[in-house]
Amino acid sequence: MESVRVKTSEILTTRIGDMLTDAAARLAVVSETPRLDAEVLLGHILAQPRSYLFAHPEELLASGKANAFDLILQQRLAGQPVAYLIGEREFWSLTLRVNPSTLIPRPETELLVEKALAHVPDDRAVHVLELGTGSGAVALALSVERPTSNIVATDACSDALSIARQNAATHGTSNIKFVAGDWFDPLADRRFDVIVSNPPYVRDADPHLGKGDARFEPRRALAGGPDGLDALRLIISGAGLHLNSDSWLLLEHGYDQADDVAALLSSRGFDSVCCHHDTAGHPRVTEAHLKTEG
Ligand code: GLN
Repeated sequence: MESVRVKTSEILTTRIGDMLTDAAARLAVVSETPRLDAEVLLGHILAQPRSYLFAHPEELLASGKANAFDLILQQRLAGQPVAYLIGEREFWSLTLRVNPSTLIPRPETELLVEKALAHVPDDRAVHVLELGTGSGAVALALSVERPTSNIVATDACSDALSIARQNAATHGTSNIKFVAGDWFDPLADRRFDVIVSNPPYVRDADPHLGKGDARFEPRRALAGGPDGLDALRLIISGAGLHLNSDSWLLLEHGYDQADDVAALLSSRGFDSVCCHHDTAGHPRVTEAHLKTEG
């Protein structure tokens, strides 16, 4: 549908409702959620919630806003993820800042948080480690749910860590210590009660990496070697040195990696290995218990 443009004095304006209809039609070629994308992007330009757009479909926009919307639409049409264009994404109950140095938090990763929480009692200072925190999503969700816990979150990418630190400051959390470094490298011989990670686990040759949002995300946060298991192997083999006795390791993994992950965990002495399914029905998070002597 053609959008209606009305000339008022010097300023060319367009109705919000028409703009959204027009934008959604254009976005249909690049997005599975064209209407939602259009609403989120226009809301961002107007610094208003989506509900404002529904309540004011007849409102005329100043040409400056209309042009800014057109510009951001062009970027979305070129494939840029909505989360990077607006600089944020919702995860758990939190609005998190993201940029191209961080993975865009996924809804399925909320399962990792939910299952980890079951092993973090809220009445004492449980020591939790998150490996590869990115925007800090998992550590922050655990932190707000368990303010008495003591969390360390690592990431090899200092740009990502700076976003994670900003997110922690925005949400007023003070129980996360962010540490730069590859996996366990910066931790010396520190031990924890719970270790969680959403590591890169996509196969290097998976065509998924060349499609949609993944094209714009940091490859090192997504690609996990020829079989996708490089980081998972490293974490599972290193975890024993960083877990207290009677402790838990929880890992997100690919929909077809649960058996491999379970085998790796058993070979390293973990017991009570249990895989949980995400809302799409995929085996997505495996937890395992470690009891060491002494
Ligand atoms: N689930 C993500 C995807 O399919 C992958 C996340 C990861 O590798 N940790 O894009």
